[in-house]
Amino acid sequence: MIRTNGLSKAFQSVEVLKNIDLQVAANEIVILLGPSGSGKSTLLRCLNGLEEPSAGSVELNGIRIEPAMTKKQKLSNFREIRRQTGMVFQQFNLYPHKTALGNVIESLLVVKKMAKAEAVKTGEQLLERVGLADKRDAYPSRLSGGQQQRVAIARALAMKPAVMLFDEPTSALDPELVGEVLDVMRQLAKEGMTMVVVTHEMKFARQAANRIVFMDGGVIVEEGSPERFFTEPQTERARKFLNQLG
Ligand code: ATP
Ligand code: MG
Repeated sequence: MIRTNGLSKAFQSVEVLKNIDLQVAANEIVILLGPSGSGKSTLLRCLNGLEEPSAGSVELNGIRIEPAMTKKQKLSNFREIRRQTGMVFQQFNLYPHKTALGNVIESLLVVKKMAKAEAVKTGEQLLERVGLADKRDAYPSRLSGGQQQRVAIARALAMKPAVMLFDEPTSALDPELVGEVLDVMRQLAKEGMTMVVVTHEMKFARQAANRIVFMDGGVIVEEGSPERFFTEPQTERARKFLNQLG
């Protein structure tokens, strides 16, 4: 589903991703862990075509991006990759002047050019899926953080992405609202969604991940089953990271 080969990313002359080889299979839940600044967000942004690799390649469902391509090829492949990835960030970034339903169906109307009635029907189903059918007409300012994030998830799902990428989706939430967002993510996992998740929720990581990928200093330091990672980390850096979590 996802494959990076020797992926590197530099900003100015600073390499923040170095030679990353990552593969994610269909239906797999991969959780990215690592200290602040280790490159987790940059890697996610490379996977969904928000950042361009400095070297190496990124591939989603056979669509590749690599430096050697022409600008035109890249643009078209970037567009296709973005279409096939749903991204959920720490900040929900909902349109404040649109209702929950309005936010969810925006891309259906604008990108897919779906007829309004069909988009509304699809949007209602998506809100139902994240447990917010009753908030259809509510504006973001009237929703809790957890509800806003669930709208953001429904909005990302609207484009029927092949993979969902989450960058600390619960980090901006009050503790009592974290669970409802994680529950939606667990549900998606159960339905077979392919997911790459950056999170500080270690209990969730341990339960939901098929594989943990641990990064530090822009490289993948170690990867393996959550069981192994949490009980017998193989590297000193991973042990140190886990110890600091307490
Ligand atoms: P955190 O856990 O704090 O979110 P992270 O693992 O997501 O950290 P990244 O945000 O990927 O880390 O950042 C990796 C490194 O790249 C950091 O040193 C950061 O300062 C740098 N970086 C990220 N984006 C840019 C940018 N647009 N321009 C310059 N440097 C950047
Ligand atoms: Mg980050």
